[in-house]
Amino acid sequence: MDPRGLRRRSGLAAGKVLAFTPRMTRPDGRQHDELRPISFVPNVAAHATGSALVSFGDTRVICSATIEEDVPRWMRAQKVEGGWLTAEYSMLPYSTLDRKPRDISRGKLDGRSSEIQRLIGRALRAVVDLKKIGQRTVWIDCDVLQADGGTRTASITGGCVAMAIAFNKLFAEGKLKDFPIRKLVAAVSAGVYQGVPVLDLNYPEDKDASVDFNVVMTETLDFVEVQGSGEEAVFSSDEMTAMLELSRKGVSEIVSKQKAAILTADRAAPADLASLAAAFGGKV
Ligand code: UDP
Repeated sequence: MDPRGLRRRSGLAAGKVLAFTPRMTRPDGRQHDELRPISFVPNVAAHATGSALVSFGDTRVICSATIEEDVPRWMRAQKVEGGWLTAEYSMLPYSTLDRKPRDISRGKLDGRSSEIQRLIGRALRAVVDLKKIGQRTVWIDCDVLQADGGTRTASITGGCVAMAIAFNKLFAEGKLKDFPIRKLVAAVSAGVYQGVPVLDLNYPEDKDASVDFNVVMTETLDFVEVQGSGEEAVFSSDEMTAMLELSRKGVSEIVSKQKAAILTADRAAPADLASLAAAFGGKV
């Protein structure tokens, strides 16, 4: 395909990646560089060490961090210092438009879920000093209540909040000498929708996007992981630069919300029905 044709479609001139006014309307009326409303309800799971319900628009994920006072057998066998962090991800059957059978009923873990939970684990381990957590395992559980695109990026973002709340609790109890998180980590999607690079795709956009990127970054905007692919399409380096720039903007906005949620979590009461209902846009 003629790369100039692709650039014409996206309205991107070389070297002017963000200096254009896209002529396209997003399904929910957002600007091309606008995130969905993002919020966190901390302390939603009383028995987890830390937890948060994260919303990226209509995508909702319960993320929890549970600390186990033990390490995996391979760590003990290899005498590896410190602890471990691992993640599990799953979509509730009613989180999707068409009911998604539970893995247990199908007898095997969905390949997609397996790929996503490994991504969540890698993203969080990138910012944690495992030597500082002692002989412990941190379990990050991400359960999708409602899926509308970007469940993996919401899981990483909410998983980081749940993990920070959990470590703060351990630190306050004197179980940790140093705070083990070096930097916060967050993730967001970007893609090319109707020829235009856009930030934080919802499901109708994700379904029709020609390019889909999931970008994981630290609070200082260093990359942890970038997953990008053309869906029966290709993308130019200008488009890729535009998607990465959009992601940087998105992550910097998300990180300030993460910080606010973590800072207020120890003062927040366990989430009650009213705050959960508010996160769903309803009333009780
Ligand atoms: N989806 C679905 N059923 C599935 C997998 C995905 O309905 O089994 C929808 C859901 O809305 C999800 C979206 O497709 O958020 C995009 O899925 P993708 O695999 O790209 O992951 P995500 O964007 O959620 O990280």
